[in-house]
Amino acid sequence: MAGLIRREDIDQVRERARIDEIVGEHVTLRGAGAGSMKGLCPFHDERTPSFHVRPALGLWHCFGCSEGGDTIAFVQKLNHLSFTEAVEYLAEKYGVTLRYEDGGGPKRGIEPGRRQRLIEAHRVAQDFYREHLDRPEGKLAREFLKSRGFGLQEVNRFRVGASPSGWDGLTRHLRSRGFTEDELLATGLSIQGSRGVYDRFRGRALWPIRDLTGATVGFGARKLDEDPNSPKYLNTPETIIYKKSQVLYGIDLAKKDIARQRKVVIVEGYTDVMAAHAAGETTAVATCGTAFGSGHTQIIRRLLGDVSSPAAGVVLSDGRAPGGEVIFTFDGDEAGKAAARKAYVEDQAFAAQTFVAVDPNGMDPCDVRVSRGDEALRALIASRVPLFEFVLRSVLGELNLDSAEGRVQGVRACGPILAGIKDRALRMEYSRQVAGWLGMDPRDVEAAQRRVSPVRDAGSPSGQTGDPQDVVIERPKDPVAQTEWYALAAAVQHPLDVIGAGFETLEPESFAVPAHRAIFSVIAAGGGLDGFLDHLQTAESEMGVGAPAVELATRRWGDSLREASDPVLRDGLTALTVSPLPISAEDEARGYAQGIVRALVRRDLARQAGNIQARLNRLPDNSEEYSRAFAELISIDARRRAYRDVS
Ligand SMILES: [Zn+2]
Repeated sequence: MAGLIRREDIDQVRERARIDEIVGEHVTLRGAGAGSMKGLCPFHDERTPSFHVRPALGLWHCFGCSEGGDTIAFVQKLNHLSFTEAVEYLAEKYGVTLRYEDGGGPKRGIEPGRRQRLIEAHRVAQDFYREHLDRPEGKLAREFLKSRGFGLQEVNRFRVGASPSGWDGLTRHLRSRGFTEDELLATGLSIQGSRGVYDRFRGRALWPIRDLTGATVGFGARKLDEDPNSPKYLNTPETIIYKKSQVLYGIDLAKKDIARQRKVVIVEGYTDVMAAHAAGETTAVATCGTAFGSGHTQIIRRLLGDVSSPAAGVVLSDGRAPGGEVIFTFDGDEAGKAAARKAYVEDQAFAAQTFVAVDPNGMDPCDVRVSRGDEALRALIASRVPLFEFVLRSVLGELNLDSAEGRVQGVRACGPILAGIKDRALRMEYSRQVAGWLGMDPRDVEAAQRRVSPVRDAGSPSGQTGDPQDVVIERPKDPVAQTEWYALAAAVQHPLDVIGAGFETLEPESFAVPAHRAIFSVIAAGGGLDGFLDHLQTAESEMGVGAPAVELATRRWGDSLREASDPVLRDGLTALTVSPLPISAEDEARGYAQGIVRALVRRDLARQAGNIQARLNRLPDNSEEYSRAFAELISIDARRRAYRDVS
């Protein structure tokens, strides 16, 4: 069994893995000032981005939930991996060969590399199923796909396959490739029976389900025979790599276009995703054997990203820009309406940008394409209506509005839905619309809302602030504390530019905020800026003099400081390192860094002068102590003047 990974190899992974690339697979990042990017945090639910990434230094930090760290920590946290597994994942991705220290004893729990093994098994299974589709026994699956309008191109793009109808075709194949029984069971692809291990999927069409990185983590399967005892659809059960509340079928193919077009189409089945992509709606995804829930909402929101360009057709009036379009297609039957209402109840802010597209004949997107073609499918998506409108119309559609009683019932039925719309202007707009549809006075519709308890969003409040139980080191609001924050941030981000501004004259007491004092102490304990210069010398000997050496040294110096800190201070250092400086271009960094550190030094000289002044007041005039303190005051005053003159 593998032991500890060698330190040099971990460092190499850390230096080679691109944080913006890794984060960018999950979060849409946009520029946030010089050298800094931001997006919606994948670790807490938010609508305005507080998740910052500093690519050059390989660090990230969320100012909303205070999570942060390096690339390894990001991969660990996002995929729920151990440190070793995260390093192995990144090493594979960036072509770093890992060497292990001898003598690392066997570990309990998830072994190192377990996840990679399971993903590898899925890769083998996917090829096995795909190959099987072309064989004589794949006939039923081929006919099924053909009847749904799919040719070789779609089959290959989605790597659809077929499973043999025998009991253990795949199980034997995986075993022959060296996978253990324990691994087979952990993938969910095999089941433990009384007479041994056998295949979960038999005689079915198979759709590989991939995560955002494109790794196959599970399968969706449809039966092809008429056996009344087996379910029509069957999915991979929950495993360490497959969580149905967090996977979306087609997301690996759709993610780029979702981010680019700021639009996502959510359909109900695997064939609907294929049909939509085949028809040119390349933002289509589907949940896998579960209802669309908050885990899915978070994935979508992260891809849609920050909100700056208004989406077509949506008018939000509270100043919040709409964050792109989320279009649900439903089959148009009662289940579809119920699902729409559920989606509505789940998340208000999401609902405000949500649309519904329903085919008038009750067909699903795949049927629409088979019977009427690509263009009809695109027209179906384009016919979307805002979710609120859809829900209100569905409610009214069940009533006879030709009678006065029906219209009164309509007002009563719409009341709670309208009252549940938190956005006031949007609520009034819909009240007016309902009044219009019913031919009633808008005031009667508004009165109906006051009599009811609104349909409320049951979700948790959005994480605008950090978890109160955490010790949070964050960018302060008050200007005195801000000077300290930015001076420290300038020092850890641009140590070379800070040199000469007097940073080395500061002491822990120069900082009023205890957390800043503690962080300064960490920097001071690491030799202050001299510590950085040591790293710079090493980096320059490795790669020559220049900006890349400065960047590498800055990064290594920061890593060494973070390593020497306790976890709370480490988070604080990370936060400082990714916190954008108030500059608009990287070449303003030096001027800013010098200025902010000088401002802090000036303030500190004033503090020191004040302290000495107070001491002088307590000392007898002619004592030796008095003359010493007085001389000190004179020298401090001289320095204060010097600082005033240069800045
Ligand atoms: Zn966060």
